Amino acid sequence: MQDVYDFKWEDLGDLSEGRPNLGTETSVVAYRLMQYTFKDAFSKVLGKQKTVELFVKAGFLAGQEFCKNALDTSLPFSQFIAALKEKLISLKIGILMIEKADEKKLHFVLTVSEDLDCSGLPIFEESVCDYDEGFIAGIFEEYTGKKITAKEVDCWATGDRTCRFEVKPIEDLNGPS
Ligand SMILES: [Zn+2]
Repeated sequence: MQDVYDFKWEDLGDLSEGRPNLGTETSVVAYRLMQYTFKDAFSKVLGKQKTVELFVKAGFLAGQEFCKNALDTSLPFSQFIAALKEKLISLKIGILMIEKADEKKLHFVLTVSEDLDCSGLPIFEESVCDYDEGFIAGIFEEYTGKKITAKEVDCWATGDRTCRFEVKPIEDLNGPS
């Protein structure tokens, strides 16, 4: 069953009116401070697994809304990816690269380097980009119209220099890849 959310793009507010001097940008420290304190506080109440699930869900919602409001889903795949890549750079979210793409099967392997969430983190044998998994799945689901999942297979926090995600339809999860 599809979750129903209240969030609207307009909830982000009018930044030109609200921040005439400081503008639209903040620092990665502020972003990470919020993300990792959220994660810690939520985990203490809900447990780690539930917290991760919620981060994926929130990221998914963000990805869908981002795709609807900041991208053009009528573009053919390669142009859509080019526009997405540009947008992620202009928002300083990360540097997207597509490593493998099977447009027919909707199987993709992509990397995000210098990403907001984990680049530069200490290594602790665990991928941490749960929000990004949801964010990427939300974008691809909105674009393709199919139920999509994204799984982080490499992460700065597991010792890699980039985050690598496998993206595929949910229906393929248990079938042959
Ligand atoms: Zn990562």
